[in-house]
Amino acid sequence: MVLHSRLLWKIYASYSALILALAVVVGLLISKSAINDTLDEIRQSLEYQAIFLRDLSIPTLQGEPDALFQERVRNLGADIDTRLTVIDASGVVLADSDGNPARMDNHGSRPEVLASQREGFGMATRYSNSVGMRMMYYALTVSTSQRPIGYVRTALPLSIIDQRLGHLRRAIIIGLVMAMIIALLLGFVLARHFVQPLAAMTMAAHSMSQGDYDKRIHLMRTDEIGTLATALNHLAASCKDRTETILSDRNRLSTILSGMTEGVIAVNADERVTHMNRAAAKILAVSAEESLGRPIWEISRMRQVSELLTEAMCPESNEPSHEQLVASGEDQFIEMRAAPLNNGQGERVGAVIVLRDVSNLRRLEMIREEFVANASHELKTPITAIRGLVETMIDDKELPPAQRERFLERIWHQSMRLSSLSMDLLTLSRLDANHVEGEESLVDLRELVLDAVESLISMSETKGVPIHAEGPADAMEVVGNEEALCQVVNNLLDNALKYTPAGGKVDVRLTPQGDEIVLEVQDTGIGIARKDLPRIFERFYRVDKARSREVGGTGLGLSIVKHIVKTHGGRLSVDSVPGKGSTFRVILPGARETDTTDDCLDPS
Ligand code: ADP
Repeated sequence: MVLHSRLLWKIYASYSALILALAVVVGLLISKSAINDTLDEIRQSLEYQAIFLRDLSIPTLQGEPDALFQERVRNLGADIDTRLTVIDASGVVLADSDGNPARMDNHGSRPEVLASQREGFGMATRYSNSVGMRMMYYALTVSTSQRPIGYVRTALPLSIIDQRLGHLRRAIIIGLVMAMIIALLLGFVLARHFVQPLAAMTMAAHSMSQGDYDKRIHLMRTDEIGTLATALNHLAASCKDRTETILSDRNRLSTILSGMTEGVIAVNADERVTHMNRAAAKILAVSAEESLGRPIWEISRMRQVSELLTEAMCPESNEPSHEQLVASGEDQFIEMRAAPLNNGQGERVGAVIVLRDVSNLRRLEMIREEFVANASHELKTPITAIRGLVETMIDDKELPPAQRERFLERIWHQSMRLSSLSMDLLTLSRLDANHVEGEESLVDLRELVLDAVESLISMSETKGVPIHAEGPADAMEVVGNEEALCQVVNNLLDNALKYTPAGGKVDVRLTPQGDEIVLEVQDTGIGIARKDLPRIFERFYRVDKARSREVGGTGLGLSIVKHIVKTHGGRLSVDSVPGKGSTFRVILPGARETDTTDDCLDPS
């Protein structure tokens, strides 16, 4: 991994270039100084040899005959690997280790000899005609009593010197190359030592940028790199914590938003949807997923949504929220509330809108308004009648007793209507408030029906409409509120008697049907037209208002029945043929063994 690091190779390349440059410079300097030293050494050794030769040559140069002098010089030169020459003051060669002095020309004009004449010694590097090769010469003047008597000369072939210098150069190059190899190896190890943790940190930082905060850098170092790695590990840990907090906050928020019944839409500064919960998607009839990222005006069929968001986002607007109620579709009403969204710096970054479907509320409001209007109208009629009758009786003191009696009877009749109206309204308001008075208990529907029939016997006889009840001999129990169930049976029987002319009949039947009990009230009365059937359970709805009023109806009886049956978990239906009669059917869940707890049992 580290071998792929560009930093490693960059550092290493610079380091290698530096080492190479250093090696070249150091090599040149060393070799130059070594060559100089070697040349000095050679020169010095030529000088020492010349001094020895000088002492050896003095007797001969002073003119003492020595037949073996040439032989001795030759042997000495061969022993020390140096050419030795002895020259007299006139330049004649007296002895030479490498040549025959008799055949050699006058050496008085040789550069080294001339230099020696001037300085006492002389040096020259040149081609030797006598031995046929390039040589380095050192000449020394031989003097006695301040008078020069000759010269001695030592010389080395340049090839020997070059050979020595060559050895020296090779040794320097080999030394430098080995030092370079060691330096380069050490440099690589050093560069890796620094780059490896950096590569590990780069990988960890890369993982962090991808959202993986679990990577840690394990370094046992206390230098700046170790401190940096520890800081990076801390950063990863704190980033992980923060990300987890943000994620859990976001999840919580999105759970809350998706669970809300209100629709919530958030848009960015370009009015593109950044969030839309399920409720909002349902209200706008769009897909929440497909809406993300699209402009709000493109997806919303209600232009008021985008208008209100634009208004909320307007930089000049300082209002915290903007509200509007919009009717969308036939009976759908949406309450909208938009507010701007600002970032930490207070800049406007978007807006959020909350949509609330208030259709049900509006419908209930309308029903309530209608109900209040109907109720006040229904109450006004008997009150007006009573007031009129009473005023007439007060004004006309001489009203004949028979007429006064009739007036009083009508006042009683109207007050009875008022009473039953107020009773029915009270019952309905209790039912609306989900507050059925009395506790639930086991109620024997059979007994309840028999009691109701018995209480209506005199009325049925007066009207000439007999009531016939049939059912099983055993008790037929349901769990419920006795008073409310009693009202169901009474209202149905009362209606059957009211809307059945004399000569007709009413049948009440109780039959078990599986786990349920069916109560049927069938009459042979005036019946109900098909178009009115769905509406007779509405409050104050009466097929024939005058007739209902005449028989003391309030228009609330069936809506009370429907309400009670519903709260007891039952169902209500009606079959009717105008002129033939009607059958009202109530199906209630029967009391099962498990339901008959001690609390519900009627002690009687
Ligand atoms: P009301 O007090 O007027 O009887 P209800 O709510 O009990 O009010 O009944 C609503 C309407 O349904 C009545 O006005 C009547 O027109 C019709 N209705 C109810 N029961 C019968 C029935 N057994 N036969 C014919 N019409 C009926």
